Amino acid sequence: MDVILLGPPGSGKGTQAKMILSEFGIPQLSTGDMLREARKSGDLDIRFQEIMEAGGLLPDEAVFDLIEKRMLAEDCKKGVLLDGFPRTIEQAVSLDILLLKLSRKVDVVIQVCVPRSLLEERIIFRRSDKHTGQIYHLIYNKPPSEVELEHREDDKPETVKKRLDTYDALTAPLLPYFDKKGLLFSVDGTGAPSEVFGRINTILTKIKENSI
Ligand code: ADP
Repeated sequence: MDVILLGPPGSGKGTQAKMILSEFGIPQLSTGDMLREARKSGDLDIRFQEIMEAGGLLPDEAVFDLIEKRMLAEDCKKGVLLDGFPRTIEQAVSLDILLLKLSRKVDVVIQVCVPRSLLEERIIFRRSDKHTGQIYHLIYNKPPSEVELEHREDDKPETVKKRLDTYDALTAPLLPYFDKKGLLFSVDGTGAPSEVFGRINTILTKIKENSI
C-alpha cells in the first residue's frame, strides 16, 4: 500500500505517520526528516540549509533523489507512507513515473485538514525530543522534564507564515490533482492525535481490504 499524507505544516502528519507505521507496518518517508538528518551529519548543501531555514522549498530534483534512493530499500517493498513529498505538481508527476517503473502506484492520498488559526499555534509551541524525535506541544502535550528538547529552526514564528503560504501556493494544487484521479480522502485533523488516527485508520483499513 503506497500512501501519501498531505497537509499543511503543523497538521500533525509526522505524529500520524508514526501511528500508521505501528498499525500498518509501512515505513514513513519524510523528506523533512531526511533533510534535517543530512543537515545534522553535515551532508546538506549550505544553499539548501538556507532555503529550509527561510521556509522555502528545495529544488524538486534534490528531494526526488532522496525519495528515489529510499524507495528502493528492502523495507519499502510492501509500501510506503510519504510525508512531505510530493509537495509540488512536478514532484507528483516524478513520483508517478518512479512508481510506474517499480510496477506500483499511489493507492490513496489522505489530506489532514486543520484551520490555519490552529496551525500557527501548534507549530510555534512544538518541540521534539532530541534523541527519539517524539513530538510535544508546550501547552497541550507537555514534554516530561527529563527530556532534552529541540526547537526546529523553521518553527520560529517569522518563518511559520512563509511555510504556510508556500503550502497554499505550491502544495494545495495537489488536492484537485489527486481528487481528479479519485485518490483523495480528507480527514478532520483537529482533536486528539488518537481521534485523528481513528479517522485515518478507517480509510486505510478499507483501502487495504479492497487491495487484497
Ligand atoms: P513541514 O512541517 O513544514 O511540513 P517538513 O518537515 O516536511 O515540514 O519539511 C521541512 C522543510 O524541508 C520544508 O520547509 C522544505 O524547505 C524542505 N522540504 C521538505 N520536503 C520537501 C519537498 N518535497 N520539496 C521541497 N522541499 C522540501
